[in-house]
Amino acid sequence: MKFDMHVHTSYSERCGWMKPDRLIKHAIEKKLDGLAVTDHDTIDGAMEVFDIVKDQQFELDIIIGEEITTDRGEVLAYFIDREIKPGPFLDVLSEIRQSGGISAIPHPFDRIRKGFLGTEKVLGEVDAIEVLNSRCLFNSKALDLCQDRKKPMLGGSDAHFYQEVGRAWTECFAEPRTCILEGRTRIGGGLSNPGYLALTKGVKVWRKVISGSV
Ligand SMILES: [Zn+2]
Ligand SMILES: [Zn+2]
Repeated sequence: MKFDMHVHTSYSERCGWMKPDRLIKHAIEKKLDGLAVTDHDTIDGAMEVFDIVKDQQFELDIIIGEEITTDRGEVLAYFIDREIKPGPFLDVLSEIRQSGGISAIPHPFDRIRKGFLGTEKVLGEVDAIEVLNSRCLFNSKALDLCQDRKKPMLGGSDAHFYQEVGRAWTECFAEPRTCILEGRTRIGGGLSNPGYLALTKGVKVWRKVISGSV
């Protein structure tokens, strides 16, 4: 089963673009079996995608996720049952655990966007590491680290635009949560066209204009 474990909808306030219903269509077209919707600091988009899939009985597994801002950098949460507020890293991790979720560090060594402060130091605290992010040019260090330390690995597109959906994925051969925790995943895919990163910057400016802060 192929899951794109990192996707943003229009609910990602400053940079999101994709409408939940069209995102679902694109995911099915790309032959994904599932998606983790991981908006910045909200699960509203994930819930909407989940509800549409359920109502219309699409064959797509939706994982409720979130990309949460912490003082060390962003943290991904999966399988959560409530929205988790940004905060200190360890507090956010314990919230994720309490809500029955699992945690991962996205694009840990990204030098263009914000990376993560001290990935090696907190390796024991998080459940997995994103080793392939289609918008990140610094994936190989994360892969080396996980192979070295036998840490569960994830891959996802970090899609903000429809064309990016499914560009990278995590393959699970059984129930995804257990597979991830046990490190039994296979990562596939590649990088997106760097033009999409530039486009995201455009969306951010446009959003600011709309909200009147430019
Ligand atoms: Zn991120
Ligand atoms: Zn992201």
